[in-house]
Amino acid sequence: MRSIKDVEFKDKRVLMRVDFNVPMDENGGITDDTRIVAALPTIKYIMEQGARLILMSHLGRPNGKADPKYSLKGVAAHLERLLNKKVLMAPDCIGDKVKDMIDQLASGEVLMLENVRYYPGEEKNDPEFSRQLAQLGDIFVNDAFGTAHRAHSSTAGIADYLPAYAGFLLENEVNMLRKVLEHPECPRLAILGGSKVKDKLGLIRNLLNKLDILLVAGGIGSTFLAARGIKVGQSLCEAELLPECKNLLDIAEKKNKHIYMPVDVVVASEISPDASYKIVDVDEIPDDMMIVDIGPKTIQFYGIVIARAHTVIWNGPVGVYEFEQFAVGTEAIAHAIAASQAVSVIGGGDSAAAIQRLSLDKDITHISTGGGATLEFLEGMELPGVKSCEN
Ligand code: ADP
Ligand code: MG
Repeated sequence: MRSIKDVEFKDKRVLMRVDFNVPMDENGGITDDTRIVAALPTIKYIMEQGARLILMSHLGRPNGKADPKYSLKGVAAHLERLLNKKVLMAPDCIGDKVKDMIDQLASGEVLMLENVRYYPGEEKNDPEFSRQLAQLGDIFVNDAFGTAHRAHSSTAGIADYLPAYAGFLLENEVNMLRKVLEHPECPRLAILGGSKVKDKLGLIRNLLNKLDILLVAGGIGSTFLAARGIKVGQSLCEAELLPECKNLLDIAEKKNKHIYMPVDVVVASEISPDASYKIVDVDEIPDDMMIVDIGPKTIQFYGIVIARAHTVIWNGPVGVYEFEQFAVGTEAIAHAIAASQAVSVIGGGDSAAAIQRLSLDKDITHISTGGGATLEFLEGMELPGVKSCEN
């Protein structure tokens, strides 16, 4: 990837794509500024190099028209506090008024453009919209890893008109994910849980090429158990996915890879904080109950496998971790990964939240900010926002 370290930024107009699509409350207050904080190193670096920095982002889904509900004004104000430096706010993201503001922008100053999704051309990757954006700058920097799986004007199309470079966040995400996927030493391991089973089967297929062992749990675990002919009662399990799971089990066997499933589980009558529950072996799951967590034997076995691994990828909690009594497995997995010497990467909002809740962040090699982008990268797909910065 082309690095911003190799660019002469002095006095240049630098158009930088960031992912400031932050969660907000009903009053427009930012409830989590992680994504803004994550872009600060690149923002500060480019400003210190004496560039005229122009930031662009999307926020929410304004459906291709200007809508004050999705304005980036509040985000610009928040960034101003974080930087302790004036952040100018543009009334639009293209056009003459914006160009005038940029003409006035001095070296070392920063301007935030209005939401790029105010125009339908953005999500269509319309060449004309890409060109209009590109007119505002001399250099394009992409630091929006969370949006890198989308081929939009501000993430990909614009690179047809401007020299494009990867910001530190994008570069670091890609390097860490590559490191864990291409690590030479065995065993390489992934733990896959969570509820979005259908979305993650492609991921499992690719990981079987790259890794040695997969530990499955959560909804994915239930579906694999069912594919093995185990009765899973009322568990989250998608019947139409069973043939694909069987196929993946065959592939694993042929490649001499391992897909391990839970041997015991916590079952409950329903998913609620005060549901009655018990621990059973997987061949004893009652018809009227559902899997909500992994059991103690599985925790112990998975823990041993994790301790021996050289690399670990974790995506998806292994139980309904939102409720304390069903969070035991997820917490044990989090502690096992934190304690291991392996290069560890966490992908997925819920798995990252579980790690943060236990304050184990510092014991993890990399917590990906990507969501969908991380999953697509691990699935082996080419990300348009990464490709645009590659040689
Ligand atoms: P991530 O955000 O890490 O990618 P997902 O969004 O796929 O993970 O899944 C997270 C959700 O999966 C959580 O809300 C959790 O309660 C749920 N979950 C985990 N195990 C089970 C299970 N056995 N049955 C139902 N839901 C589960
Ligand atoms: Mg999730």
